[in-house]
Amino acid sequence: MSTKLIRNAAIVDGSQDRPTEPLDIAIENGRFVEVGSGLRFSADETIDLEGGIVMPGLIDCHVHVIATTANLGQNAELPNSLVTIRSLKLMNDMLMRGFTTVRDLGGADIGLKMASDEGAIAAPRLVICGKALSQTGGHTDYRGSYSNRDVSWYADRLGTLGRICDGVAEVQRAAREEIKGGAQFIKIMADGGVSSPSDPIGYLVFSVDEIKAAVEIAKGFGTYVSAHLYDDRAIVRALDCGVECIEHGNLISDETIARIAREGQAIVPTNITYDYLATEGPRFGLPPESVAKVADVREAGLERLSKLHEAGALMGYGSDLLGGMQAQQSGEFALRARYMPNQAVIRSATLDAARVLRMEGEIGVIAPGAHADLIAVRGNPLDDISVLAGQGEGISMVLKDGRVMTRT
Ligand code: ZN
Ligand code: ZN
Repeated sequence: MSTKLIRNAAIVDGSQDRPTEPLDIAIENGRFVEVGSGLRFSADETIDLEGGIVMPGLIDCHVHVIATTANLGQNAELPNSLVTIRSLKLMNDMLMRGFTTVRDLGGADIGLKMASDEGAIAAPRLVICGKALSQTGGHTDYRGSYSNRDVSWYADRLGTLGRICDGVAEVQRAAREEIKGGAQFIKIMADGGVSSPSDPIGYLVFSVDEIKAAVEIAKGFGTYVSAHLYDDRAIVRALDCGVECIEHGNLISDETIARIAREGQAIVPTNITYDYLATEGPRFGLPPESVAKVADVREAGLERLSKLHEAGALMGYGSDLLGGMQAQQSGEFALRARYMPNQAVIRSATLDAARVLRMEGEIGVIAPGAHADLIAVRGNPLDDISVLAGQGEGISMVLKDGRVMTRT
């Protein structure tokens, strides 16, 4: 039985506008077991933080750990072994930035998840959907106009974010196969996208029946469908079909914002990716047609942040960066802080993110029963969110499941 005691740590989790008084945090077998002042707890190891600030391990609700380059068509061609090894590095970097849980929105498989859960690799806890479901010519169909390569070719490629399925029967099979393969939720591509060649934003991809089929299968397995969406018309259609989580949502209308605030569906804006793609995309291999698509959604997404916050919509932190751009993962904090209070920004990566992932009480909180995921920071993020910026320079310790992942 492994035990640890963190002493004199002031907690910031986004639930309050100031840090708690310095508290003691007891950890046993990878879970928090007690939090309070002057705890009597005999531990194998005691770490005194002398009043420093700790936060729950951060949660990124939208990543692609297998996206080792921004050119996703090219990424799909890479050998699985190379993708695996590169993704380990990408995941380790995320952990060093303080992200102890990441939800992968397409690509990561059960093997990567198991390796992380077993502690075989130093990586964030993965929440996976397996391959995202996409239609012929939709987002994740990277073949372009001149190729009709059989889509079954994608089936065993670790480097592809999605799989192609057309018609209700194929969507049902794909959803079932992903869940059988360890998917914890289902991801569908229900709008055009930036990083694929033949699907303009605002396209109503997948039919209503196909979307409903995915929703029925997911619900039957006690989970939900999350959908890649930009355009309001596509968002409304997806919500009507029972989709419960909106990825990106850059062009969501005021009316639909009010609707999700009322009905409780989640949204995961991913502004940093458009902000960065606009300037650095070409350098990282993003094709020109994709760069042109970025401008359409960049400004719109930023404007929506304050509206979403004011309406009280459930919002998760998301980065959605590809390849080498993943180093900008923590840039979303500062971007959001221009449009909403730091406290709400923090919550989107802790308490609210846990709700988006349906892991409330398990992650995103320092409380008895939760995974002992914790970061110690060199400043108060409620005052200055930049303590979370960069590559973890403002983070002095990362604990995942009670194990020290880094300490400087
Ligand atoms: Zn997307
Ligand atoms: Zn994505």
